[in-house]
Amino acid sequence: MEVIPEDVLERAKGLLKRYPVCDHCLGRAFLEVDGKNNEERGRKIREVLGVKKTEPENCYFCMGIFGKLEDYVEAAEREMMGLVFRTFRVGTHVPAEIIAREEEMWEIVGVKNTETIKKHVNREVGKILKKRTGKEYDPENPDVDIIIDVERDNVIAKPNPVYLYGRYRKLSEMPQSKWPCEYCGGKGCERCGYTGRAKKETVEYCMADVLLGITGGEETKLHAAGREDADILVLGTGRPFVIEIVSPRIRYDDWEWAREEINKHCEGRMEVLCLRPVERRAVRELKSTQILQTYRVVVRCGKAGEKTLDGLKDLGGRTVFYGVKKPRRKILYINWEPGGEDEIALYITCEQGFPIRQFIEGKTKPSLPEALGEHCKIIRIDIVDVHGGEPC
Ligand SMILES: [Zn+2]
Ligand SMILES: [Zn+2]
Repeated sequence: MEVIPEDVLERAKGLLKRYPVCDHCLGRAFLEVDGKNNEERGRKIREVLGVKKTEPENCYFCMGIFGKLEDYVEAAEREMMGLVFRTFRVGTHVPAEIIAREEEMWEIVGVKNTETIKKHVNREVGKILKKRTGKEYDPENPDVDIIIDVERDNVIAKPNPVYLYGRYRKLSEMPQSKWPCEYCGGKGCERCGYTGRAKKETVEYCMADVLLGITGGEETKLHAAGREDADILVLGTGRPFVIEIVSPRIRYDDWEWAREEINKHCEGRMEVLCLRPVERRAVRELKSTQILQTYRVVVRCGKAGEKTLDGLKDLGGRTVFYGVKKPRRKILYINWEPGGEDEIALYITCEQGFPIRQFIEGKTKPSLPEALGEHCKIIRIDIVDVHGGEPC
């Protein structure tokens, strides 16, 4: 029979003399003792010391938590039932009182070779759930978080968001983001025809309709690298985005199929060029990505001829100022070709956020009218390419 070190017995005795301690809590204070779990460790120590058993509900340190593990597991299983997923993780919220008592325990026995109550509960509940449900435990990036709230005696299963990276092309005029009805805030009312939407179609709604349909998610959040006005199309390689699906009840993974469905759903009006799962940090990365975009601007000018158009050359590489407090944006290249009649098509490659309309209307320094020596009328503005971000 194995021998329990003398100093362990000494410290355990000191603890048991002061408080009633259940086997689970006693065991987690002495991980150096052999045993298949904390309960067994605690029992061994207690038996050697000849101390009577304390049930968890009378334990000073867990205040009954270790008598409820089975309840937590059953509640978690019920919660998991309505979800389709692969991996999970368990987290436990314990009242401050229990944390304070745990501190007291470390003061008595020392903190070396111990396990916190949270860690113990998470591991034990996780182990049983894994066995019963066949789901995988993933401490890093789980599909679902099981959250045990000890104080409220409540267990919930919270699906973590899905993040998808892609690039969209906007082939007809529509806003980029969702646009909830202002009367009902998106719940649906008579005014919006119970759609919850002020604008029937946006880039985000085109995706959300399909993605929420197949995942049972609560809502989407579109994070795009830059934005454009509703009346500006986005062509070329499309604008990079990450779309977040909040609280998906079904973990779905055929995103190529989903992409095709989105393109069918909004056929001819917008399209998604690729769609693939990414991690949460992709949102931050996308926001800090340097984006350049090329505008195609068709303007109608009175008498701008070949000679005056030459003046546009000097705009390449210039920094454009608009107002005092507005950020400056750079024009990298500018090209042009004559359109029909007195129209000119300008191709302006500039930094994201460039005040394109103001530049053409002459409200910036420098500006188009300044370079041409006359004012031009805007016929159409579109984005013909977005440079930067991950390719498809
Ligand atoms: Zn206990
Ligand atoms: Zn409404």
